[in-house]
Amino acid sequence: MADELPVTRFESEIVDLVKKHDVVVIIGETGSGKTTQISQILHRAHFTASGMIAITQPRRVAAVSVARRVASEMNVRLGEEVGYSIRFEDRTSDKTQIKYLTDGCLLRELLSDSELKQYSVIILDEAHERSLNTDVLLGLLKRLAGRKCPDLKIVITSATLDGEKFSSFFSGCPVMKIPGKLFPVEVLYSTEQPINYIESAVQTALEIHTQEGPGDILLFLTGKDEIDKAIKKLEDRIRLLEEGSCMDAVILPLHASLEPELQVRVFAPSPTTCRRIIVATNIAETSLTVDGVVFVIDPGVVKQHQYSPATGMYSLVVVQISRVQATQRAGRAGRTRPGKCYRLYTETMFENELAAVTVPEIQRSSLTSAVLHLKSLDLKEVNVLEFEFLDPPSRASLEDALQQLFIIDAIREDGSITSLGKRMAVLPLEPSLSRALLAAEEASCLNEALTIAAMLSCESLFVANSKKSSSNKRDLEFKNLPDGKGLGDHIQLLQIYEEWREDGFRAEWCEQHGVKTRSMMFARDIRKQLSQIIQWESKGSSRYKQKGPDLVALRKSLCIGFSNRLAHRMQRHNGYRTLGTKSQLVQVHPSACSMEVDDDGLLPEWVVYNELVNTGRPYIRNVCAVEGSWCQPALKKLSSLSVNKLGGTQSNSGQRAKQEEKETVQTEKAGLEKPSAVQ
Ligand code: ADP
Ligand code: MG
Repeated sequence: MADELPVTRFESEIVDLVKKHDVVVIIGETGSGKTTQISQILHRAHFTASGMIAITQPRRVAAVSVARRVASEMNVRLGEEVGYSIRFEDRTSDKTQIKYLTDGCLLRELLSDSELKQYSVIILDEAHERSLNTDVLLGLLKRLAGRKCPDLKIVITSATLDGEKFSSFFSGCPVMKIPGKLFPVEVLYSTEQPINYIESAVQTALEIHTQEGPGDILLFLTGKDEIDKAIKKLEDRIRLLEEGSCMDAVILPLHASLEPELQVRVFAPSPTTCRRIIVATNIAETSLTVDGVVFVIDPGVVKQHQYSPATGMYSLVVVQISRVQATQRAGRAGRTRPGKCYRLYTETMFENELAAVTVPEIQRSSLTSAVLHLKSLDLKEVNVLEFEFLDPPSRASLEDALQQLFIIDAIREDGSITSLGKRMAVLPLEPSLSRALLAAEEASCLNEALTIAAMLSCESLFVANSKKSSSNKRDLEFKNLPDGKGLGDHIQLLQIYEEWREDGFRAEWCEQHGVKTRSMMFARDIRKQLSQIIQWESKGSSRYKQKGPDLVALRKSLCIGFSNRLAHRMQRHNGYRTLGTKSQLVQVHPSACSMEVDDDGLLPEWVVYNELVNTGRPYIRNVCAVEGSWCQPALKKLSSLSVNKLGGTQSNSGQRAKQEEKETVQTEKAGLEKPSAVQ
């Protein structure tokens, strides 16, 4: 089957091109074999003789799924010749020659191997997705290409036709276009905008199922909740269809948090006797190809993270897809034979309201991690503010990142990275959490902080809709940490882990308490890995307390780490005001565990939080009670920053212009805006 893929037909052309040039761009329709075949082609051409082939993926699920597929195509055991590496999970060995890894993992590898010496070829795959990490890698690889590493080959693959843009970024490198074998796809528009796109999508799927010939249906929705809802509706209604009136249907979900066993079902060959209805997130748009799809239902929406540097807030919002995405989605219907794409929006809307292309993630994300990364690479001749990106992020978001890094001690006022900052960059965590771990190490409560970091790193800990989880989340007994009750989510996470540990890490405990066993096992594993990284790094100097944990020291450490995310309670009610250059009125997220209140029913005066999210209204999530006195150093730094701001870095108002110019010259050298006023 593999040798029928379009990419495979161009094997010798691909090999010749990569031999001749340091950087090559390969464009091919999704499903043409770029992800699974190019690595094998280059392996067969013996590129692996001088190092591994790395293939980056923006999504963890894709890295795992594709590595598994390639291992089976090559008839080798996963983790041997073909392996993968994603955050907290490395399945590679000395034998590994083809390594699928997330773009974030490759970025981290650059910290210890700045010239990527263990690789012969780096394939930056799915470049059209324009993930933040891929964009940073593009900039870094451009610097490496040819100049520093004459033997390193770089291949950039993309599904859409922005090959010229990548090529001109890499000084006009050759672009190879693999002709696709896409069958015609008939596009059908809605005559009016549906009021409820889930309902409309379910209806459309039923109509196709009862009226059209064989062929699987791929339905795009924005997230797991929507997918579950649609599947329930579909199941209920298909059950009501008269037996024998149409073929059987199998309804399958596909999203990033799907357990691996269930993902496999989507890739299993489709049975001829029944129709599969695959209800997927955007993951099926380009990164994973499901065979057998003939009908695509596209409601025209996607869930996107949007970060506002002006408020420091993340929103997860459902937005309209771009025309490029709509085209990609439609293309999924024409892979094996002519297909149909049902757009649940009008043609006028497609033409007039959809943006032409998707805004790259770098222009809608917090850049704190990315900037810390660039700083720790010590790109001597480069100022972060001037780093060459394919599409530059806004200056406001770069400045926001620099300010946050300054507050958490990762960079100095002149913009240079501190030794703490260097250590933070090595940890596979968000900078504030890394900072908290380092503070905890210093305060001899690393053990507990590691547990918290691990627990925060696993998504979805509590079993959804479990009565137990909600009651237990609020009423856990805190047997082990009698003083921990009411101090917030971090301490509660520690408590949950401790109870589970004391119980002997048993699955039964998780079931009884409404937490997911898989997540807890994952947390245990992450904890071990983090502990190895940090101890290896500090040469094993950390001490552990044998007695009960010192919760004050622990919360102080969290306060230091999250000092860029402090909030102060209102005087008379339980609203909080976030502190920083951009103050916000927020509420504690309803998912938070119950916190101690005083006689007037008021919550702790000071808290730090992990996230500021906008889900209808602004909420702070994962909150820890701290003391006002612990916040002083951060408040001092913050006030110096706002003084700086008054000093005019961002405004271009006339009187300030001159001073600004002077300051900018000084600060840009280091890459930090306005350090001069910082004491
Ligand atoms: P591209 O990267 O160009 O979009 P891929 O290499 O991902 O193409 O896919 C090529 C073919 O391999 C497709 O027919 C796809 O269905 C199949 N394939 C990819 N991954 C898997 C998998 N995990 N299981 C089964 N088939 C797969
Ligand atoms: Mg691909």
